[in-house]
Amino acid sequence: MFDLSGKKVVVTGGTKGIGYGIAEVFARAGAQVAVVARTAEEVTKAADALAAAGPGRTLGVRADVADPESCREMSATVLTEFGGIDVLCANAGIMPQAALATMTAAELAAVLEVNLAGTIFAVQACLDALTASGAGRVVLTSSITGPITGYPGWSHYGASKAAQLGFMRTAAIELAPRGITVNAILPGNILTEGLAAMGEQYLSGMAAAIPAGTLGRPADIGHLAAFLASAEAGYLTGQAIAVDGGQTLPESFDAVRPPH
Ligand code: NAP
Repeated sequence: MFDLSGKKVVVTGGTKGIGYGIAEVFARAGAQVAVVARTAEEVTKAADALAAAGPGRTLGVRADVADPESCREMSATVLTEFGGIDVLCANAGIMPQAALATMTAAELAAVLEVNLAGTIFAVQACLDALTASGAGRVVLTSSITGPITGYPGWSHYGASKAAQLGFMRTAAIELAPRGITVNAILPGNILTEGLAAMGEQYLSGMAAAIPAGTLGRPADIGHLAAFLASAEAGYLTGQAIAVDGGQTLPESFDAVRPPH
């Protein structure tokens, strides 16, 4: 089951947080993993750490997903080093907060450029290689925020995460004849550096709202990504799957921790 050994995998935003968790699951499963981010020293550090996690080769590639040319260079580098791309985990994203009443055009553009356009540019750049794979897989990291829930300060972020799903549905149709599946994971609150920046009060408030009682771990997302990338998931496409410890289920506070 789920034999990923030798698969050539790209994880954008793979140097930390959810992306690193995804990369680590693939590395442990014997895949060759390329991690992509903007900070040069972080990509080297992450690739070195991943090399110790599994038998496959690892690679750190510096790129900005918001820049289509940078995505094309990233894809070319992975092709040169690995000889192909079987799986793209389009995970890079930013989550700055801005109240709707005062949000600037620049703040809106920054979130859409990385989270939405960056997803599309990464997929476009890897498309020929994913097609050549014969069983290409695209796994998007969306969020529960936007597609299912809302949170003050994240109207632009939620819009970008919901928009990824709109992209996914048509991409899944267009790419099906190429043997490529496109699916999205909707993480709940996963403890990462990005989320930790929200502060202790946010983290404890979120944990209290989750039926499972705790925040998720990056590996929780990685395990679903590994399944979606597997041969066994070949007939599954265009789907959005929440991994949130049940956070989106309760109708009230009492439903999370029943008083009886
Ligand atoms: P994180 O800890 O802040 O890590 C973000 C990663 O993305 C880093 O590797 C960062 O590296 C990279 N990145 C950011 N902008 C980039 C760009 N323009 N080009 C290339 N790489 C870029 O974030 P996270 O919490 O793991 O979140 C990862 C993804 O999961 C995001 O799409 C986020 O929306 C989603 N998500 C997270 C949660 C959560 O609870 N944490 C919940 C739902 C969804 P550099 O800064 O060096 O580029």
